[in-house]
Parts: sequence; C-alpha cells; structure tokens
Amino acid sequence: MAQKNKIPTWKTEMKEISPGVYAYIQAGGGWFISNSGLIVGKDYAIVVDSLTNISLTETLIEEIKKVTDKPVRYLINTHSHGDHIWGDHLFKGASIISSTKCREEIAREPEYPDVSAYAKVLPHIDFKGVKHTVPDITFDSKLSLYQEKREVQLIHNGTGHTPGDAIVYLPGEGIVFAGDILFYYCTPLCAIGSILGWIKYLDMLLGMDAKIFVPGHGPVCGKEALIDSREYFSLLYNEGRKRFDMGMTAAEAAKDIDLGRFQDWSNWRRVGTNVDRLFRELRGEGPAADLSGFITELFAPDQP
Ligand SMILES: [Zn+2]
Repeated sequence: MAQKNKIPTWKTEMKEISPGVYAYIQAGGGWFISNSGLIVGKDYAIVVDSLTNISLTETLIEEIKKVTDKPVRYLINTHSHGDHIWGDHLFKGASIISSTKCREEIAREPEYPDVSAYAKVLPHIDFKGVKHTVPDITFDSKLSLYQEKREVQLIHNGTGHTPGDAIVYLPGEGIVFAGDILFYYCTPLCAIGSILGWIKYLDMLLGMDAKIFVPGHGPVCGKEALIDSREYFSLLYNEGRKRFDMGMTAAEAAKDIDLGRFQDWSNWRRVGTNVDRLFRELRGEGPAADLSGFITELFAPDQP
C-alpha cells in the first residue's frame, strides 16, 4: 500500500547557496520547467544551463543581472534536452561548453526544433524562441575551469539520463549542479539514457565530498535526494528485472510494479518509459537517439 507522503512546494527564485554561487530554481519542476545555476567570480560569471524558451530565459537573465554585473563568459550545457539548452542563444558572447557526446547530440538536431508533438500534448507550455546552439568547447571526461582560486569541475561519466550528461562540481564549496542526473520530488525520466548508467552517476555523486545538490528539476537538496533517487532506480531495476525474466512486456511490468512512496512524485507515469528503457537495456540495445517515439506514451493523464 502506497504511503501518502507530503510533497513540499517550492517557489521560483535565485537562491544564493554559497557566496557567489546561486541556484535558479523553478517552482513545480514539471515538463520543461528546469533549474539553472550561476557561479560568479571576480572577473566573469559561469551559467549552468539556459531554460526552455525566450520568456523563461529572459527572466533568468534579469535575475542574473540583479545579483551580478559580471559578463557571462561560459554557459555550461549539462545535457542536450531542450529545457536546458533552447534558450542558449540569448547568452550572447558566452562560450558554450558541453561533453563531446552532448555536442554530437545537439549538432545532429535542426537549428529550429520541431516542437509540434510537444505543443499538442502540453498546450500550456510556451515554445516561443526555441533554438539549438551548437556548443563551442567540449571535453571527454573531465574539464576544470578556474575563477581565481575557485575550481569548477565538469565531469562526464558515461550515459545516465542521456548519452552526453555532465555534472558540475565545486570542490571548494561542496556543491554539485547535477543537471537531470537528479530530479527531486519529480519522477526521473530515462527515455534516451541508461538505468544502470544513471545508478552509476548517483553512486559517483554519493561518494563525492559535497553537501549541496542542485537538481535539474526540483528544490535544492542534500544527499537525502540522491538516496531517494537511487532507491527509485533500485526498485525499478529489481522489480523490472524480475518481470522481464518472467516474460512480461514492458507495459505489463510498468502497470504491475508498486511504486510505493514514489507514486506521490509528480509525473509518476514516467515509470512506463523507464521500464521500457530498462527492458531495452536488458535486451542489449543501446540508448535511443532522441525522444521521438516516446512522446505519446509519456503524456498520460497525471499532467500538471
Ligand atoms: Zn533532461
């Protein structure tokens, strides 16, 4: 029997989590409502992820200007999903950095993404001004940027949420901007990634000397969020694997799995896509190239 847990609410805000380091958190954290980060040094600022569209990204830029007048020199893309990169083109003059794999994913997309399928199922989302901007600088597994004494590490550890994920680690401050490797109070979505690879990322983050985590969706949190997320994926893997071995289809398995307290998280129906991904992985298939093919099944009734 699922326990009804109280899921907190959080507001949209630019939150200083350490001197000069900010998390820009968006309320709700649902479809296309993601978070961003800002790291301000003496001479320049670094932004972690833009947002979905022109209006959300312009609001983010206004909030940045309220806390610093330093130019944004680098814009980091944690991965290739539109809600983290479609507003990149508004950061004029900034060099965009991503993992090599993430750049490949973005480079094979059209400059102006076709959002008609999303617009149909998510009529409340504004897709004005969505655009792909191909990153300028790439790295394979690790890159460090320095703002005076502050080190900002970018780490790619294989396929997790997507093939090109990167997390941003500030060892001096003990802060991680996790991108979509971490969802909090929102169900993670593994459509084009790897369930086992994602667990590997969570274990890496759990082993890091950090106390503050900024998820891609959801409020700022500590390691308890990583533990929660790992429990979700362990449950998904163990229960999914059992049903795979029994010969169930992915759809049958997704319906049959009791999510327990994770059923209280928003977008819990993403379990369908996550189990589908797990079954493909268990059959030895690689990550999907893009989100098409998942769109219809993803947007079942529990939408915000
Ligand atoms: Zn994503």
